[in-house]
Amino acid sequence: MSKSDQLRRFLFDKANIRGEIVQLNEVWQSMEANHQYHPVIREYLGEVVAAAVLLSATIKFEGSLTIQASGDGPLSLMVVECRSNFGVRGVAKYKEPLPEQTDIKTLLGKSNLIITIEQARTNERYQGIVALEGNSIAEFLEGYLQHSEQLETRIFLAADKQAVGGLLLQQLPGKTEDDDSWDRITHLGSTIQKEELLELQATEIIHRLYHEEDVRLFDPEPVHFQCSCSREKVSNMLRSIGEEEAADIIKEQGNISVDCEFCGTSYDFDEIDIAEIYASNNPSAASTTRH
Ligand SMILES: [Zn+2]
Repeated sequence: MSKSDQLRRFLFDKANIRGEIVQLNEVWQSMEANHQYHPVIREYLGEVVAAAVLLSATIKFEGSLTIQASGDGPLSLMVVECRSNFGVRGVAKYKEPLPEQTDIKTLLGKSNLIITIEQARTNERYQGIVALEGNSIAEFLEGYLQHSEQLETRIFLAADKQAVGGLLLQQLPGKTEDDDSWDRITHLGSTIQKEELLELQATEIIHRLYHEEDVRLFDPEPVHFQCSCSREKVSNMLRSIGEEEAADIIKEQGNISVDCEFCGTSYDFDEIDIAEIYASNNPSAASTTRH
């Protein structure tokens, strides 16, 4: 059984096809540790986590890639962020009890998946809308890559309580020497079982599927849990709710406590902290207090 948190890239040089396998154990366990997700929700969130890492590895960027779904169904929010250094975080919100039908479309209701890519240096932001065409998260994303990026892609995703796994195959632009290669390689890919994606080593999976193909294997790249929350960001958020409302909460509860929904870190603010937040927000008020 593999215990890894990594992405493994491989390449079929002659066929001009790229492959990637992602497998997460500890990273996934720490993502769901603070939540008691319903097993169905956990599986969908895990699939999106695997997908976010796979997609991040297909593009050249420095920043973050986010996959988000927010619809009017019982699964009201699912958001996963993967940074270009493979730092991931994600969260799901939903209403219980879940309906009898728990397919992804019913749970999301009227919704799209939105993929956002933010380039850190330039602050440029690209957004793509993924229609819910098909019956699985993998199919939605395959359709999106086909329609908007003209990239033939096959994606296989799996998740349980212990692990998430994903396999991506993508035809790269340019000539191939081997006309049947895409059909043959994706057909072999489609024989992968969920348990295999979750439990076998990436090298074992590649060997099992593609021992008759020419495959170039790259070094594994580590994936880690990374939350970008900070006291400063929470302060900015509190600043935006307004001084009066903050004062009301302080009066009622003595302090303001904000928990990060991704990592569970708790940020506490007492009366003095709150006063400082609004003082730094309003320089003239700060200077008058000095008299
Ligand atoms: Zn956090």
